[in-house]
Amino acid sequence: MFKDKDEFRPLENKAWLSSPTMHGDELKYMQKAYETNWMSTVGENINIVEEEISKILESKYTVGLSAGTSALHLAMKLAGIKRGDKVFCSDMTFAATVNPILYEGGIPIFIDTEYDTWNMDPKALEKAFELYPEVKVVVMVNLYGVPAKIDEIKEICKKHRAYLVEDAAESFGAKYKGVQTGTFGDVSIISFNGNKIITGSSGGMLISDSKHDIEKAKKWSTQSREDAPWYQHEEVGYNYRMSNVIAGVVRGQLPYLNEHIEQKRKIYERYKEGLKDLPISMNPYDKENSKPSFWLSCMIIDEEAMSEHVRSDKKALYIREEGKSSPTEILEVLANHNAEGRPIWKPMHLQPIYRMNSFVNRFGNARAMSNAYIKHSQKDDEGRAFDVGEDIFNRGLCLPSDNKMTENDQDRIIELIKACFE
Ligand SMILES: *Cc1c(COP(=O)(O)O)cnc(C)c1O
Repeated sequence: MFKDKDEFRPLENKAWLSSPTMHGDELKYMQKAYETNWMSTVGENINIVEEEISKILESKYTVGLSAGTSALHLAMKLAGIKRGDKVFCSDMTFAATVNPILYEGGIPIFIDTEYDTWNMDPKALEKAFELYPEVKVVVMVNLYGVPAKIDEIKEICKKHRAYLVEDAAESFGAKYKGVQTGTFGDVSIISFNGNKIITGSSGGMLISDSKHDIEKAKKWSTQSREDAPWYQHEEVGYNYRMSNVIAGVVRGQLPYLNEHIEQKRKIYERYKEGLKDLPISMNPYDKENSKPSFWLSCMIIDEEAMSEHVRSDKKALYIREEGKSSPTEILEVLANHNAEGRPIWKPMHLQPIYRMNSFVNRFGNARAMSNAYIKHSQKDDEGRAFDVGEDIFNRGLCLPSDNKMTENDQDRIIELIKACFE
């Protein structure tokens, strides 16, 4: 369908999903680390990055770490997870949210997603506490830069005296009711991975109101040395501290946080406008209460406009149908034209590694129910799927969202997507 049309030739410059955007100061601060020989996990860049982020997030304590994943691991330790403890966790997310629960021997129980923000469904969380009242830790994510229904989730945690870990790796700079995400958990984390809104090439940060907790995490991150003239150890340690060179990159990036968000917002709005006549919608957010970071722009195809589309564990197949399309078709067309999209994070309860873990949706223990008599395709009175995460995974995809993508290239991507529905 694309062969003869000149407008459908591949993009000259690849449109990435989300790639690092450097501005120059990063190199200056890295160079400074080099010239002053602070080439380790101590130095000015780290101190300043921790201070600056405390300022951005408003008077929180912070500790710079080697990755968002190491921050999450230390968060699980602060939450006090012990071997065999059950932990409630967002289901539709990147595996890095969940893996640290296993590092501590915890057992994740996955909480289904809601359609309004594509995050943890408070109704399902409430159900989960009915089923497992002994649970003491909840791990929630703000997916793709969109704040979750944070007040509802916090309220439920308070009611059940549960400790909240907020994974704000994708939502640094996003606000919920005027307050920065990354500040809502008893402990929260952000990431400076290469494709995040601000990058250090790698790196992450742990954030808390508790000075005591942050000091503890800092000690753990530097091999848990006791205050003694020699290497004295009373507990297990980790090598998780942020490097002063990496911190130089983050330091150079921080002044551009709002600019990056603004660029990402424009990308989202242009997709929304350009695709408005198609049977799709953009990933939703609460317009009244939330200011997302728009880290990734995503779309979801209306159910009636889905062509036949099946996925096995490793492969996908679709049938081309007039007036319809599928995530696989769109991703394939984009890839063939030098544009990088991505499937929605495949929900954790559908992952082979977590096939034995419980999955709770708004009706209750979904695995037990689906095995017994309710089919996954079943809908409720409002036409909502039984398994919301699976439904969004089946019909949704992430669009090229790089802030260096030109308007012209984005227009061509929009035309390519339109052509998929012809
Ligand atoms: C990127 C990401 C992480 C992990 O961050 P790293 O810095 O790559 O370790 C954790 N959770 C979510 C939701 C992420 O997107």
